[in-house]
Amino acid sequence: LVSKLPDVGTSIFSVMSQLAAECGAINLAQGFPDYDPPRVLSEALARHATTPGHQQYAPMPGLPRLREQISLKTARLYGVPAPHPDSEITVTSGATEALYAVLAAVVRPGDEVLVLEPAYDLYGPAIRLQGGVPVYVPLRLPDFRPDWDLVAAALTPRTRLVLLNSPHNPSGAVLTADDLRTLGQLLDNTPTLVLSDEVYEHMVFDGQQHRSVLQEPALAERSFVLSSFGKTYHATGWKVGYCIAPPLLTAEVRRVHQFVTFAVSTPTQHALADVLPDPELYTSLPEFYQQKRDLFAGLLRDHTRFELLPAPGAYFQLARYHRISSEDDVTFAQRLTREAGVAVVPVSAFYHDRRDHGLVRFCFAKRDETLIAAADRLRQL
Ligand code: PMP
Ligand code: GLN
Repeated sequence: LVSKLPDVGTSIFSVMSQLAAECGAINLAQGFPDYDPPRVLSEALARHATTPGHQQYAPMPGLPRLREQISLKTARLYGVPAPHPDSEITVTSGATEALYAVLAAVVRPGDEVLVLEPAYDLYGPAIRLQGGVPVYVPLRLPDFRPDWDLVAAALTPRTRLVLLNSPHNPSGAVLTADDLRTLGQLLDNTPTLVLSDEVYEHMVFDGQQHRSVLQEPALAERSFVLSSFGKTYHATGWKVGYCIAPPLLTAEVRRVHQFVTFAVSTPTQHALADVLPDPELYTSLPEFYQQKRDLFAGLLRDHTRFELLPAPGAYFQLARYHRISSEDDVTFAQRLTREAGVAVVPVSAFYHDRRDHGLVRFCFAKRDETLIAAADRLRQL
């Protein structure tokens, strides 16, 4: 068999988690919490898992009652017209499936997809599997802001899609209303669509607000907006996300979704629909995660030689290690895992050409005692 992705190895998140397990290291590499979902949610799932009638296929686009709640939440949170549950919302197997379904639905061979780098590791390979051509535009260090002149220069008549991710993995950078307005102007009168990965929408710190592309009308009309209940409810293993898009775009996503997974786990969707009406479960997240960021950043700053970059959103802290080692970031991340017992992700994994900026990514979605224990292991460096 001739591989369709010959240059692609196993995802860095699997690689580092496996190495962490082998070494007994504290896993601050792969992004997932080491605490459980809210009790009300787990109890709801337990209930629905034994409710007769909730054990068979859900409707292909998602349970109506869950799509209804997503619609209400979106309108309330972002002050936008409620997306129509029947024609504008699709429940997917995590944001991962939504990303894949959107790319498969819209990217044709030879189409260009503009990707701001560093970028989540799925984007490039998923674009290439459709025959698309990822066009990479670098974000500016150290704040990982987009340079809109570079974006403008990279747009061509073949640009099918612009891929956004805010709050950003791995940097936490957050797009502003001005950014979205600028992009809206750049795309005016073009057929270019937008795929906006907003899975960390509830993790923005220091009083800043997440801006959804849904709030920029020039973008909303051409956008697929993705989120993930895995992030919002500390339930990455449940693999439920969703895609909001105008009716014609949603119809195309569903053409793919129906043949990728058909539908998402029924009892899980019921449980999520039960808890979605409670805003406290997500409005508490900025404070919850900011406390973790500040705790971990404070420990690293006071007791280690890492140099921290700003971490305005998501649940990741980037750090330079040049005062500790001159190794490349992959070698350093592996040695840190093996010798210090703390697993991290080398940031070169987020660049298509494995560009090395001497940066590693720590995930701080961990219990305070985990963060304290990890920082303690990093003191000796
Ligand atoms: N996009 C980004 C930027 C992510 O960080 C993740 C999760 N790691 C995903 C998408 C995938 O989300 P899910 O787990 O819901 O499939
Ligand atoms: N999004 C998570 C991260 O960035 C990992 C998800 C995965 O392992 N696929 O670490």
